[in-house]
Amino acid sequence: MKIVCIGRNYVDHIKELNNQVPSKPVFFLKPDTALLIRNRPFYYPAFSSNIHYEAELVLKVCKVGKKIQKRFAHTYYSEIGIGLDLTARDLQDEAKQKGLPWAIAKGFDNSAPIGQFLPKENFPDAGNINFHLDKNGSTVQRGNSGLMLYPFDEIISAISEFMTLRTGDLIFTGTPAGVGPVKPGDKLEAYIEDKKLLSCLVK
Ligand code: MG
Repeated sequence: MKIVCIGRNYVDHIKELNNQVPSKPVFFLKPDTALLIRNRPFYYPAFSSNIHYEAELVLKVCKVGKKIQKRFAHTYYSEIGIGLDLTARDLQDEAKQKGLPWAIAKGFDNSAPIGQFLPKENFPDAGNINFHLDKNGSTVQRGNSGLMLYPFDEIISAISEFMTLRTGDLIFTGTPAGVGPVKPGDKLEAYIEDKKLLSCLVK
């Protein structure tokens, strides 16, 4: 399986990192070894001193598709969850400066904690899903799928123009403003609406 992530999908987050608003979806990949499941702890890696959390809604792909039209895109995912696109911001800044790929900064081991998924039927309006992230009990990020520059269906259509989507693939749909660093001892808890779906202790 693969993990496809959308970058720069919320205007408020684009501004906080001083990036340009993209004219088409920006995407990148994480390998399957990035997955961190069952609320296991995240061990702070030695190669970075600035790991950031980015809470994101995550789609689980339920059938094979390529060149998917926007109007059919909603039939290609069956579940919605929440995950953390953990980012080695120091390595990413270095890569950006040199015009190099983000592979290491975004794809290192355990950089993709994911929580419990819910059937998409639980969400009557995919364009109005609230989510938030708490760090040590205080809310640090709040998002709503209605604020995405590229909503779910456009993302699926755009990715599948270039890459075949397969059952089990995950799509991280971008992060709202409020990203920030983690340190050992931090507890991250992610919610969709009022339901806690992910908990991750940083060690
Ligand atoms: Mg992200």
